[in-house]
Amino acid sequence: MTTLLITHPSGLLHLTPAGHPERPDRLRAVERALEAERFAPLIRVEAPLGRLDEIALCHPEAYARAVLAAAPREGFVHLDADTALSPGTIEAALRAVGGAVLGVDEVMTGKARNAFSAMRPPGHHAERERAMGFCFFNSAAIAARHARATHGAERVAIVDWDVHHGNGTQDIFWNDAGVLYASVHEMPLYPGTGAPAERGAHDNIVNVALSSGDGSDAFREAFDVAVLPRVAAFQPDLIVVSAGFDAHWRDPLADINLREADFAWATQKLTDLADRHAGGRLVSVLEGGYDLEALAKSTAAHVGALMGG
Ligand SMILES: [Zn+2]
Repeated sequence: MTTLLITHPSGLLHLTPAGHPERPDRLRAVERALEAERFAPLIRVEAPLGRLDEIALCHPEAYARAVLAAAPREGFVHLDADTALSPGTIEAALRAVGGAVLGVDEVMTGKARNAFSAMRPPGHHAERERAMGFCFFNSAAIAARHARATHGAERVAIVDWDVHHGNGTQDIFWNDAGVLYASVHEMPLYPGTGAPAERGAHDNIVNVALSSGDGSDAFREAFDVAVLPRVAAFQPDLIVVSAGFDAHWRDPLADINLREADFAWATQKLTDLADRHAGGRLVSVLEGGYDLEALAKSTAAHVGALMGG
C-alpha cells in the first residue's frame, strides 16, 4: 500500500503582504524536500478544486460565498489583521480543501494507505464563520466531515500538533460526538484558546498545553499520556492530522523545541494506531511551519514516516 502526495502549483499563487511568514516559499521548500530519491515511491497527484458543498460541511454557505466574493483583482483584501486575500488566494484555498477531500476519497476507498496534502493556505484557525490566523477554510475539518458524509466513517479523530491551538477545528466540532479533536500546542500563544478544561460538549476535545521552552520530552509525554490513549479509545475509522511544523526549535513564531525526529516519531505512533483501529487510514494536511529549513526537514521526516520508514 502506498502514500499519496497531493499538491498543486496554485498553492504558490496565494500571496501575502511583504514580510508575512505564511508565504509561497514555504511550499517551494516542501516540494524541494520531497524531490529527494527516497520519495520516488510516492504517488503524486494534483489537488482538485474543492466544492462549495464540501466547504458547507463545516462553514455556512453564506460565509463561504462571502470569502469567495472578497478576493481582489490586485493587491490585498484583509479579513483580519494577519489574514488577507490576494487575487490567487481563492484557487489556492479551494484546492487546499480539494486536496484534503481527495486524500480522504483515495484512502477511504483503499487506493492509498495514507495521504499528505501539501497545500496552503492552512486551515485550522478558520472557525465556522470566521477567517483568521492565515486561514480561510478548515481543510482538516472538512476532510473529517467528508469521510463521515460520503464514506460512512462513524468516528474520525483529528490530531493537531501545530504549535498553535486549532481554535477553528475546536469550534466546528465542539458539539459533534462523531469527531475527536486532540491538540498539543504552546500556551500562552496565539490564538489563546486550547486550555485543558475546554473539552467539548461530548468530552470529544482533548487539549494539551505545552509551555515556552518545552521540547521533545514534554511533547512525547503529552502524546503518550494524553493524546494516543484517547485516540485509541475512540476507535476511529480514519485519522486526520493537522500537520504544522512550527513547534520546531528553529521556528520564529513560537518557543517549543522539537526536532525533525519528533515529527517522525509522532507520525509513526499515529500510523501504528491507524493500523490497529482504522485499517491504516490516515490523511495529513499541512498547517503551519515558518522556518523554511525546519519546514522542509520536518515535512520530509513526516512523509518518510507515512511511507513506513
Ligand atoms: Zn501554527
